[in-house]
Amino acid sequence: MKRLRTTAVHGGRDDLAGLGVHAPPIDLSTTYPVPDQVEGGLALQALAEGAPRAGSSVYARLHNPTVARFEEALAALERTEAAVAFGSGMAAVTAVVQAACVLAGKPHVVAVRPLYGGTDHLLSSGLLGVRTTYAAADRVAEAVTPDTGLVVLETPANPNLDLVDIAEVVGGAGAAPVLVDNTFATPVLQNPATAGAAYVLHSGTKFLGGHGDALGGVVACARDRAAALRRVRVVTGAVLHPLGGYLLHRGLATLPLRVEAAQRSATDLAARLSGHPAVGLVRHPSLPGADPRGLLGAQLRGPGAVLAFTTREDPAAVVRRLRLVTPAVSLGSVDTLVEHPAALTHRLVPGADRAACGVPDDLLRLSVGLEDVEDLWEDLDRALSGDCEGDYIKPSSTRARPLTGSR
Ligand SMILES: *Cc1c(COP(=O)(O)O)cnc(C)c1O
Repeated sequence: MKRLRTTAVHGGRDDLAGLGVHAPPIDLSTTYPVPDQVEGGLALQALAEGAPRAGSSVYARLHNPTVARFEEALAALERTEAAVAFGSGMAAVTAVVQAACVLAGKPHVVAVRPLYGGTDHLLSSGLLGVRTTYAAADRVAEAVTPDTGLVVLETPANPNLDLVDIAEVVGGAGAAPVLVDNTFATPVLQNPATAGAAYVLHSGTKFLGGHGDALGGVVACARDRAAALRRVRVVTGAVLHPLGGYLLHRGLATLPLRVEAAQRSATDLAARLSGHPAVGLVRHPSLPGADPRGLLGAQLRGPGAVLAFTTREDPAAVVRRLRLVTPAVSLGSVDTLVEHPAALTHRLVPGADRAACGVPDDLLRLSVGLEDVEDLWEDLDRALSGDCEGDYIKPSSTRARPLTGSR
């Protein structure tokens, strides 16, 4: 097996030389000619039963070669046998619950908080017909029952960067498969499958795509689990569009370089924020006390590019004063993004539950991008210090300004 950066550049491209092309073709076909309808039927049958490919793709909800290349590349990076892509990270979470709980007749989930607000809400809503017990990482064994089809965790967790010992949770889960949401760490910094996770999930919308222009999700896992996920995908139609598959695949090539660069800046900013008089608590795996179990350097190869902090002042006022940092949900983009989880990404999680798992109402989440770190620091320092001159200019007022070029 090749090393990480090589795999990131070359993964999922084995068939390109044979096709005589350099960039992967984007196959936008919704249907594929099947002149022999008996053979076509056999291909349809195989794909509906979860085969990774067949003699014909038959129909775009069953298989797409552009998406399949991305899946192959991601599986190589996560060191799993297979990967299955979906139209969004939430569609991927849904498919895992459907495969591991609904299809398997085990309608109970154990989840370790905090989780991304959408995942937390999905699991507690009852929408998928599953019941969820939330448990601390070291109490998973007590929460698991014979009905438990899935154990869910995130590490580093969204939004407070809590670190969870994956092997410990896998041990506590017993026979129940463990899903690790690896969106924050990316395969560059962590490979949960090597610690025993059965499903490794990414919101590809974040670091994998990396440019804020492609929505998608992906699950890396063993061959048999991938087959069940494909069966679910064929039936529910939760497919990734081939253009999204192309963009996520292209994103993988620069993923190691982007994560390493953004992580350097995040580590620097976390240290500087810790010393800022207008800042309360700072959360980043690089900081003293953030890693009591010594996971950094072992399970997690680097602290990552997302951090969180509380402000002494109203966090909304601080965000309004930022000029360079983009005030927006999402993360893992080339530009630095800031958002207020209690108001936005984690709004649908009850306030008491947020507080109980270490997500204070005044916490801000910062996803550090690829800008010069000194420019980011100037912007953050100015906003934190209450200099109002830089009030964020809303996009609508930017558009309203005449394009005279006189500025
Ligand atoms: C954004 C996110 C998701 C959901 O992904 P979408 O692509 O927005 O559906 C899931 N998990 C984590 C950790 C996320 O940050």
